[in-house]
Amino acid sequence: MTLVDSPEKRQSLHEQAVRQFHEAAEIMDLNPDYRAILAHPKNEVIVNFPVRMDSGEYRSFRGYRIQHNNLLGPYKGGIRFSPHVDLDEVKALATWMTWKSALCDIPFGGGKGGIAFNPREHSREELERIVRRFTHALGSNIGPDHDIPAPDLGSNGQTMVWMMDTYANSTAAANRQSVKGVVTGKPIESGGSLGREKATGQGVLFSLQHWCDETGTDLAGLRVAIQGYGNVGSNVGRLFEVYGAQVIAVADHTGAIINNDGISAFELAEHVEKVGGVAGYSAAGECSVEDFWAADVDVLVPAALENQITMANVDSIQARLIIEAANGPTTPNAELAFLAGGGEVLPDILVNAGGVVVSYFEWLQNKSAQPWTLDVVDHKLRDTLMAAADRTVVAKGNFGCTRRHAAYIVALDKLQRVYNQRGIFP
Ligand code: GLU
Repeated sequence: MTLVDSPEKRQSLHEQAVRQFHEAAEIMDLNPDYRAILAHPKNEVIVNFPVRMDSGEYRSFRGYRIQHNNLLGPYKGGIRFSPHVDLDEVKALATWMTWKSALCDIPFGGGKGGIAFNPREHSREELERIVRRFTHALGSNIGPDHDIPAPDLGSNGQTMVWMMDTYANSTAAANRQSVKGVVTGKPIESGGSLGREKATGQGVLFSLQHWCDETGTDLAGLRVAIQGYGNVGSNVGRLFEVYGAQVIAVADHTGAIINNDGISAFELAEHVEKVGGVAGYSAAGECSVEDFWAADVDVLVPAALENQITMANVDSIQARLIIEAANGPTTPNAELAFLAGGGEVLPDILVNAGGVVVSYFEWLQNKSAQPWTLDVVDHKLRDTLMAAADRTVVAKGNFGCTRRHAAYIVALDKLQRVYNQRGIFP
């Protein structure tokens, strides 16, 4: 196991998310009434449901759907399958989704869900029954104009098709065709969008390009370490390589590898696809987790779990730029230490928003029953993320704050303007 498990991990993730929120709210002087509303999710749905295992026995699962805020549009966010899933984690992730959508100016709120289990331990048949039974248990808590799940860690396009099909089958026959947008991240044939699969990685590339333009840095030749080589990490590696960056070290749940002369991101992706992890990749040497963090690189891309860059490893990091492709990978204290040491952090709500932005495009395509070309998707994604990054840089200048706080301020300012117009009901 190469993922860090430091004592800080026992701190509540939701408390960390709320701390970041209050810090930004303080700097921008957010209206205290809105502050009170936004510090908590609106709804917390917990479902316990039975599923038949292949052995014939039934097992009870616990699933969550947290609806943080829907001022700007339907609750929106992924469904995570991992043994780590608990109420605290999903609350934090749902909160970050609200900021992400507001920052990118897309008409969605924030939500997140999950089931506490390890999908790798189940057959495809068991997985299907778990997903369908969970969707049934959520019932009308989700809906194409109410709360729209998407893939996250441990789930994928197939998961979304099972959710969509289950939801559609509990909808009146005459309305079934209009509920495709109840989930996004679907495979193309089942109503997905071109470019959705790579969207988060694509957005990470745009964030790096934006930062390179801002700071006058040449992307080509940057040396990169990536933690996590699933959907996000492997797309980041391949896209960075296409633009001339060099992947030097990669770590995931199976091990860590390093090659100071560079690792082929494409070959590694094929290897991971075949064997399920980076371990055993022959064109790089195995290394320890400590060596991975201390790799001689310019850029570190955490693309796995939260709380990975902590006070236990931050001092060993050689990279000068952390690009948060994962949600919440850097603890607040570690971020302070990294910034104090002269490093820079591109924050998660900006960097990894490509996924939810293309989810929005998919939802629009479902509503209009009109597919977009990949070119259109990529261009609109680029425009959306570059504009969000521009707004963040402006806020950073205006408030003289960190880039994370600036991104929060852009999001909170948008929410504040809408609350000012609509008022608080009743
Ligand atoms: N799970 C992704 C995220 O954390 C995507 C969410 C979505 O597409 O709704 O941003």
